[in-house]
Amino acid sequence: GQCTLRCPVGALIERPDWHRVLDELDAKKRKMIVQTAPATRVAISEEFGLEPGSVSTGKMINALRELGFDYVTDTNFSADLTIMEEANELLQRLKGEREGALPLFTSCCPGWINYVELHRPDLIPYLSTTKSPQQMHGAISKYGPLGKLIESESDEEPYVVSIMPCTAKKDESQRPGVRGDIDAVLTTRELAKMIRHRKIPFASLSNDGEYDNPMGESSGAGAIFGASGGVLEAALRTAADALGLKDAPVEYKAVRGVERGVKVATIEGIGSVAAVSSIGSAIELLSNDEWKEKFLMIEIMTCPGGCLGGGGEPKSDDPNILQKRMNGIYNIDSNSVIRKSHENKQVQKLYEEMLGEPLSNTSERLLHTTFAARNSPRDKLNRFLSCVDHRDG
Ligand code: SF4
Repeated sequence: GQCTLRCPVGALIERPDWHRVLDELDAKKRKMIVQTAPATRVAISEEFGLEPGSVSTGKMINALRELGFDYVTDTNFSADLTIMEEANELLQRLKGEREGALPLFTSCCPGWINYVELHRPDLIPYLSTTKSPQQMHGAISKYGPLGKLIESESDEEPYVVSIMPCTAKKDESQRPGVRGDIDAVLTTRELAKMIRHRKIPFASLSNDGEYDNPMGESSGAGAIFGASGGVLEAALRTAADALGLKDAPVEYKAVRGVERGVKVATIEGIGSVAAVSSIGSAIELLSNDEWKEKFLMIEIMTCPGGCLGGGGEPKSDDPNILQKRMNGIYNIDSNSVIRKSHENKQVQKLYEEMLGEPLSNTSERLLHTTFAARNSPRDKLNRFLSCVDHRDG
């Protein structure tokens, strides 16, 4: 059923984890690292009566510090890291230097991954092997420079919390191959509950909070991961530069938009790519084999509009809410000084100091994963149970 893909808003209550995180914060035993997803910083505004679409990044960072997190870091940083790996994976598959089929499918949406593993395991060779930004972030938090710094000061491994627009991200964090990278996943709504519970006056907080480095810097390309078409656009910015396409644009407006369906862009020197919004549109596209010939890369997001419409985002009666959140996300991009993932200085530093280069052995070990058919009745039941809990959140 649908809930094995994601828990739709209102139909099921997400498994609540925020009490557990508050207990961990209060215990002060382990260093607490939090990461915030691209779509969270905009939608959180609605929970506190602020204008829908307004960008509350600084307020959210300040609230997270008041909650007691030691390091407030950005999933947008690891979205840039995902692009470094995924764009290079695309280029290597194009040159025939890497296993895997073309077109390359994005793999950062667990709703889509669950669909493939449950219903279309024949598509696994097309999936990018990159971990999602959430999982890359967890691996680098624990085993990268920040984790090493924390380890040198304390015996305990850091506790990594992610704030996601998505109920399926809870399930993703428990997947074989990535389990242990992340200790708790909270939705945007759960973060709002924590902030209210601790009586932090979110709306009147200053919007000047800044992320901690080395995992706090990000490009506009990382920011747009929160909108349908954003991962594709971010990958194109990096692939075009890697191919030396001097006249390639920075913005690919053809793949933007919150409506369900398939958006297509054709880039001279690269080929055609598609962004698919909603699982229904994906099923339709994949119902015959035309996509195999037509496209080089396909982004698939389960939620209409992408993560800004995720099952963990605030509920809203506003018929234009997705559009408003989308505008907020693209404003972050257009106001960013750096708009391409490969120009992120902290990402460059991570490669220099630790990873070497994209798809190096260390990158493969920390930043990539595998997928497998999961379609026995027991698998289906486990998937269902892992994202459902009927207790009141
Ligand atoms: Fe989660 Fe985003 Fe996928 Fe929706 S589109 S299931 S919010 S990752």
